[in-house]
Amino acid sequence: MPVANAPRKPFATAAESPLPPEAFLQAVDQADLAISITDAKANILFANQAFAEVTGYGTEEIIGKNESVLSNHTTPPETYQELWRELAAQRPWSGKLLNRRKDGELYLAELSISPVVDADGKTTHFLGMHRDVTELHRLERLVRNQKQLIESVVDAAPIAFALLDPAGRIIFSNQEYTKLSADLRIAEPAHALLDSLAPQWREIVASDPAHCTFTSHETRIDRPAGRPRWLSVTSSVIDMQSDCADSYFCAAGQPGLLLVISDISSLREEQERARAAVLQAVLAEEERTAAIRESLSATLFRLEEPMNVMNSAISVLQRRDPLSAGMLSEALNASREHMETLRQVIPQSPQEIVVSLNINEVLRDVLEVSTPRLLSAGVVVDWQPAATVPSILGRPLQLRMLFKALVDNAIEAMNVKGWKRRELSLISAVDGKRIAISVLDSGPGIPEEWRLKAFEPFFTAKNGSGKHIGTGLSRAQQVVADHGGIIDLGDSPSGGCAVIVEFRVDGDPI
Ligand code: FAD
Repeated sequence: MPVANAPRKPFATAAESPLPPEAFLQAVDQADLAISITDAKANILFANQAFAEVTGYGTEEIIGKNESVLSNHTTPPETYQELWRELAAQRPWSGKLLNRRKDGELYLAELSISPVVDADGKTTHFLGMHRDVTELHRLERLVRNQKQLIESVVDAAPIAFALLDPAGRIIFSNQEYTKLSADLRIAEPAHALLDSLAPQWREIVASDPAHCTFTSHETRIDRPAGRPRWLSVTSSVIDMQSDCADSYFCAAGQPGLLLVISDISSLREEQERARAAVLQAVLAEEERTAAIRESLSATLFRLEEPMNVMNSAISVLQRRDPLSAGMLSEALNASREHMETLRQVIPQSPQEIVVSLNINEVLRDVLEVSTPRLLSAGVVVDWQPAATVPSILGRPLQLRMLFKALVDNAIEAMNVKGWKRRELSLISAVDGKRIAISVLDSGPGIPEEWRLKAFEPFFTAKNGSGKHIGTGLSRAQQVVADHGGIIDLGDSPSGGCAVIVEFRVDGDPI
């Protein structure tokens, strides 16, 4: 390899070379590259056939003329200055110049000039080689213009694009994607979206990208502040040609995953508003029914005690006063019948079918319908959703009722005269195959010894104690268990009550 900046070694003499001089001349003359040899002032001493073809000047006609005859005089002077600086330092120069053919037609020449140095280290000649790259330049420009055009269109589109390579790296994205990333405060929204819509994508994107494709799947991204964003995502495989040298003779390509993401939040918000109104009515109705159900059940439960007392009295009276025992027994039977009738009219919970649902959506709905109560109790809400949560199977109304009951309990615990700190945190977090939901309040909390009892039916510690144990925890536990989850009570960081509900992503509700 020639050493950079070092003067070239002089040619081997004809005597030293096994190549006959005429073969050398013929090779240069017939080469498919415009070759010229000049003196030290760029006056042409030799030009080959290809030179004549490119420039339009005959090989004889051009002899004696300076290379500047090819100049169109529009190449920036700095280019020539650099060219001559390099040659003066006996270094080769290569670059592009705008040339003019003999007939006046312009062409772009890709030129390489090497100084020819004699045995005394003096530059005696220059060897120039050039080719017409006008068409190549035109095609390059065309490609560059098209690329710019595509990039401008892609950037102007109100849709986010992200292209992932087989390793899952984002290798192309548009401005809308960058905006989305900043807005959601997620480094790579594409990854979060794939996690939510094709959870197995990380394992299979390199080997089986076709299994990561889908069309117009919708997902929501929850943010601690602001409304959730609804995104419709289409994922498709595109073939990307490799630019490695070894792919020159075979069209080796690698598949890329193209995500096209459109924001459908405003449309969904409208639908959500309508749905929230319906939901509010449904929840209010279900709450009313549940209250009737609970108070009737509690009444029946409490009536069992005097009934049992009456039963014992009948046993005692039977020997001493059979007549009274008989009358009492009749009264007891009649009462039992009435109780049974009452039991039958207890309104049942609606039968719900199990559907795939997003727990963040459930929690958000609960906050929405609880807003008036939260505001009137002066409770500050800290909503910390996991950006995306995998769907779980569940009964939407039951789960909404469950979390509404937990939020209601928290409000009730803090909405006590003189209670200053009123904060409610609602947190969802995904941990592998589990989704944990924490309802944390800054109320007085639940003493350790009541935590197990709190799940017993009809247990209440509200009267007199001043400590909070909400109603419906036994119902809450039932709903959680029906969904294959667990519920636990603990202390919140602010000293209040922490209710932690955990569901398995692959849970199978009964
Ligand atoms: P010029 O008056 O020639 O000079 C322009 C600039 O070059 C000035 O800054 C001047 O100081 C400097 N310069 C000119 N000659 C010399 C020199 N001998 N030593 C040091 N500095 C000098 N030009 C093309 O436009 N197209 C070609 O295809 C082309 N092929 C060339 C092939 C070879 C082998 C060589 C040696 C030169 C080639 N040139 C080519 C360069 C050409 O010789 C002219 O320098 C150039 O065309 C500018 O010409 P000009 O008449 O506009 O200006």
